[in-house]
Formats: sequence, structure tokens, C-alpha cells
Amino acid sequence: MCSKLRIDAVAVVLLAAAGTATASDRPDAADAAYADMPHIAPIGVRIAHYLPVPQNAKGPAIDPAKGYRLQELGKGLYLITDNAYQSMFMVYESGVVVVDAPPGYAAHIVEGIREVTDKPITHLIYSHSHTDHIAGANALGKVPTIIAHAETKRLLARDDDPNRPLPTVTFADRYSLKVGSQVLELSYHGDAHEPGNIFICAPAQQTLMVVDMVFPGWMPWRRFAVAHDVPGYFAQLEEIRKVPFKTLVGGHVARTGTHADVDRQIAFLQDLKAAAAKALGATKPGAGLDAKTASENPWAVFDDYIDRVVIQCVNGLTPKWQSQLAAYDVYIWDQCYAMEQSLRID
Ligand SMILES: [Zn+2]
Ligand SMILES: [Zn+2]
Repeated sequence: MCSKLRIDAVAVVLLAAAGTATASDRPDAADAAYADMPHIAPIGVRIAHYLPVPQNAKGPAIDPAKGYRLQELGKGLYLITDNAYQSMFMVYESGVVVVDAPPGYAAHIVEGIREVTDKPITHLIYSHSHTDHIAGANALGKVPTIIAHAETKRLLARDDDPNRPLPTVTFADRYSLKVGSQVLELSYHGDAHEPGNIFICAPAQQTLMVVDMVFPGWMPWRRFAVAHDVPGYFAQLEEIRKVPFKTLVGGHVARTGTHADVDRQIAFLQDLKAAAAKALGATKPGAGLDAKTASENPWAVFDDYIDRVVIQCVNGLTPKWQSQLAAYDVYIWDQCYAMEQSLRID
């Protein structure tokens, strides 16, 4: 009975609305696109055909029966991945150190370790606090020692998530983990992706793991991989560039990275910064609006202004970069919106 009354009431409202509303009362999509609209679909518009993924963004295939891939990084250090996420483990004389446990394949991490050794997992290192990289921790069983940056412990205590057990050991600037003959050097370089996100360096294996910063072969995930601090993100990429690694484990995508990948990402970001700065300088707020809207709706003025800035930014980058980074078309609008915002407010 209640539901019938309710339906009747909704029908009355709909009928009334149909009789009174006019086209101009409704917040419709624009009548016409902006001038110089990019051919790459903006945010919120369905993309019918994505640009092809360049060959150099691809990695070795996953055995579908296993659901994961192991890659030897040298001297007892292994990458384990589902080709979307990446983590590592290091075997030493009496145990195994695991770095990150992405929940997507955490159930396979012990299987991967058992391909190589029967030794127990003695240590787990968290790269940072984000769920998608560490919330598979419980699949490893009870790990005696969990190491992370102090900020990561603070965030995890706040989040109070049983899938992300609290670290038992924390540090502020540097921590050297020496187990048997193996070494991992942990260091903190400030806020960029997230407070507490650390560098994990294996000197003997010439391997550096830093998560959610560099995406070998790919456009960074949207808005600089949702960087907590955009200027910090740009600065920390230069810190990564300085480390003399041979192999970079970025935490994502289907392959490991090299210095060439870091250089290319920085070159893209420098072009992005220049394109957004140029567009901000060349665009006049309010120029695209009628006088009434311009005088009474400052947020509309801003919306129109930023849209025109971002359109110029996208157009400035597309000819050079659309074929160089996989998924350029997926996130270029997001990157331009994040860049113009950072240039204005940071
Ligand atoms: Zn993250
Ligand atoms: Zn990530």
C-alpha cells in the first residue's frame, strides 16, 4: 500500500515536471563543444576506441594456470607480479623477506616463494600504507617483523584495518635491514605519492623499488598516480633518477623499469608542466561566457576558464606524446587538470 501511494506521488511529480519545465531550465550538456576541442575524449565521455598499447609497454606473459609470474632480479631477489601489481621477496640464509603484499595476488606469494625455497617468511616491508599494495599481508601467515616508515604506522593506526597489521619496526630517515648475507636499504625522501612512501634499495642486486611513482612504458595513473603532493612528486622523480639502479620495481604494470623509463616520464612531465603554464598564461577567465553568468556565478567562470586551459594543454602535448606512452589517451585530461591546479595553488 505504501509503495503504491509512493508510485502515484512520483507519477504526479513527473507529470507536473513534464508540463512546466522548459529546455532552458535544465542543466544540459553544452550546445556546442569548445573551440579546438581535442580528438581525445574528455573525462566523462565514453571512449569507443583506445589508442593501441605500444610494444615497449608490454611485459612477459603470465601463466594463466598460475596467476602470477616470478622474475629473478639476481642473488636471491625476486619480483612477483600479476602484471598489474608488483612486489618482491628476498631469500637469505635462514628466511625470506617480503616487500608488499598486493591483495590481488597475495594468495600466490607463498606459492611463488615455495618455487624457490622452503625457508620461513621472517620479515615483511610495507612500501606505503595503501590498501591495494599491502592488504594481502594476512595471506603470508603471521610474520614476526613488519617494517615501515613511522608515517605509514601512523596512517595504518588511523585506518584500523585488520587486513593491514601494524608495523613492529619503524624508522624516520633510513633503515638498513641486514639478514644473513643480504641487505635492503630503506630510505625516506619526503611526501610525494603519500607520506611514508619509501625507497627500498637492494644494493647487491642493483634494484630499486619505489611504488606509485614511475610507470615504465605507461602514462602515470590519473593525476600523477593521485599524488598527495604534486611538487613533491616532481622532486622525488629526480631523486629516483639519481639512484644508480639497474632494475626499477615500480609496483605496477607488466615489466620492470630502467633509467630510460624514468628519463622519459620526467621528460613527459616537464612538457606537461610547460604546456599547462603556457595555457594558463594565454587564457582569459570569463571570455567564453555570457555577461549574466559571468557576473553572478564565479564558479561557472572558473569552470569555463579551466576547461579552456586544459584543452590547450591536451592539444599541446598530443602530437608528441600520444604514441610514446601507453594509455596517453586514458589519462591526459586528468594530468592536465592536476597540473594546472598545482601550478595555480601549490
Ligand atoms: Zn599508493
Ligand atoms: Zn599503486
